Amino acid sequence: MSAQLIDGKAIAKTIQAELTAEVAMLKEKYGITPGLATVLVGDNPASQTYVRMKRKRSAEVGIHSVGPVLPADATQEQVEALVRELNADPAIHGILVQLPLPKHLDEEAVLNTISLEKDVDGFHPLNIGRLAMKGRRPMFAPCTPAGIIELIDRIGVPIEGKEAVILGRSNIVGLPVSMLLLKRNATITICHSRTRDLPSVTRRADILIAAVGRAQMVKGDWVKPGAVVIDVGINRIDDPTRKRGYRLVGDVDFEEVKEVAGWITPVPGGVGPMTIAMLLKNAVTSAKRAAGLVE
Ligand code: NDP
Repeated sequence: MSAQLIDGKAIAKTIQAELTAEVAMLKEKYGITPGLATVLVGDNPASQTYVRMKRKRSAEVGIHSVGPVLPADATQEQVEALVRELNADPAIHGILVQLPLPKHLDEEAVLNTISLEKDVDGFHPLNIGRLAMKGRRPMFAPCTPAGIIELIDRIGVPIEGKEAVILGRSNIVGLPVSMLLLKRNATITICHSRTRDLPSVTRRADILIAAVGRAQMVKGDWVKPGAVVIDVGINRIDDPTRKRGYRLVGDVDFEEVKEVAGWITPVPGGVGPMTIAMLLKNAVTSAKRAAGLVE
């Protein structure tokens, strides 16, 4: 293996330790306890797991966490009323509505209800708009994209002036990470399912972000030697040698690409652990902002 491994798990742990110290300082010096609300609607098992993890990590760093749950048949008005209640609660600095919501609910209208100052997931349309505009700053950047930038920063690779190629243009990952890279003065190329001759585009990348949801799609000869390769994908492939019958792989063919890239994230243990770490960081920032300690 020639590439250096980007250990997202270790980096996320470091961030958590930094946040634990900061939360303790905020309590002691200013009497502030950051508060995070995770709203769950319905009983989707994956969503339940994500919310449980977010609450567990919050508690570990000393964040006050509340987790209101509404039934799967909750009305639009009930969900929005809950969000408004949390908007008005001074003990809550961040509100996260776990997505996806049950089909009968209008997701965008719910996200629109979250107060801009408490939008720690960064999905409020105004925050996304600010992310896309030159000279504007969102209150919060979406967590997975922010985690990707944090990984690149923590390995000490400068972003400015680099060619960054992003595979995927979703609202959750591809688009916002592209905007963050652009804000950091990278030259960006965004690819999607209609892009022609992907390998010729990806081979230009100094920084390659793969967020397509296609198992091991990016091959060794798609990558420029020495590139930073960030694999966001989480895909299940059959593996009869495992007890559960499958294993998780990314969108990058790790075995091939690690021989060419300069840096590479593993799956699992790369981008995944960063998402919650950035959520906690956003919640702490929000509490500091509410107290006038930061802009
Ligand atoms: P989406 O399905 O919303 O978007 C996928 C994007 O990839 C689309 O823009 C699509 O193009 C593009 N695409 C699909 N197939 C191809 C192809 N063959 N060639 C080129 N582009 C293609 O996915 P998400 O962005 O939500 O997630 C991407 C991956 O990241 C998934 O595996 C997901 O599980 C994972 N993920 C991981 C997270 C983490 O914390 N680690 C968090 C969020 C997601 P088009 O727009 O034309 O359809």
